[in-house]
Amino acid sequence: MKAQIIDGKVYAKTYRETLKTEVDALVQQGVQPGLAVVLVGEDPASQTYVNGKIKACEETGIYSKAFRLQSDIAESELLALVEELNQDPNIHGILVQLPLPAHINEDAVIDAISKEKDVDGFHPVSVGNLSIGKETFLPCTPHGVIKLIESTGLGIAGKHAVIVGRSNIVGKPVAMLLLQKNATVTICHSRTKDLGEMTRQADILIVAVGVAHLIKKEHVKEGAVVIDVGMNRVDGKLTGDVLFDEVAEVASYITPVPGGVGPMTITMLMQNTLTAAKRISVN
Ligand code: NDP
Repeated sequence: MKAQIIDGKVYAKTYRETLKTEVDALVQQGVQPGLAVVLVGEDPASQTYVNGKIKACEETGIYSKAFRLQSDIAESELLALVEELNQDPNIHGILVQLPLPAHINEDAVIDAISKEKDVDGFHPVSVGNLSIGKETFLPCTPHGVIKLIESTGLGIAGKHAVIVGRSNIVGKPVAMLLLQKNATVTICHSRTKDLGEMTRQADILIVAVGVAHLIKKEHVKEGAVVIDVGMNRVDGKLTGDVLFDEVAEVASYITPVPGGVGPMTITMLMQNTLTAAKRISVN
């Protein structure tokens, strides 16, 4: 194997230790950062994510409060809970785990979260601020992706970054962040005509699709940095969008799945909660 592995697990662990020190310092000043996590229904993947977030709060000294709600809860009831949390002085960050059941309007719920507590960075105001380069809560997975690229020391400015996937939670915000860092950015999606022709131009290739092993050796330029955001279950095993063993033969750096982007997502949520607590409660 040629590529060096970008170990998200190790990076996240070190990052969380630093966060804990900052959280402890804030607690000394009388403020404990607090995160509310709202889960509607019993989707097993969502339950796993929520448990991971609660555990990370415990690790970093952040107060957490989990709300596990029935899948048939009325939208109005959920909105009332969000409003209550907006007013709660012990809560600095509010995360509503997506997806929500079909009878609930996701946009209405995201819009209802106070923009000061929008630690997921999904509120339209946060998205707008990101796109015009104003300080805001950065969405967690895209922020984690940037941290992992920067951890290689190769730099982003002037590089050609190709992103596969254009979702609001990964592809588009990653593109915005890379643009801010002065990369030249190409975004691909399901209607892109010749995916390989695009991805082979990438110095930095970010894949966020949700199709196991979509990206193979022939999609990747020699020496590229490859970040695999994908999380797919194949025969019960978690696997990425990149055919790891093959692509590692040509890439210079590559993230594994699991153990790459995943641990960074939750870590950046902890970072945003700390930032929210500082903004709301200090001064
Ligand atoms: P979405 O389903 O919202 O978006 C997928 C994107 O991939 C779309 O833009 C779609 O194009 C594009 N796409 C689909 N098929 C192809 C194809 N054959 N060629 C090129 N593009 C294609 O997914 P998400 O962005 O929410 O998530 C992507 C993956 O990342 C998933 O596996 C998810 O589980 C994972 N994920 C991981 C996280 C982590 O913490 N590690 C966090 C969030 C997501 P179009 O727009 O045209 O439909």
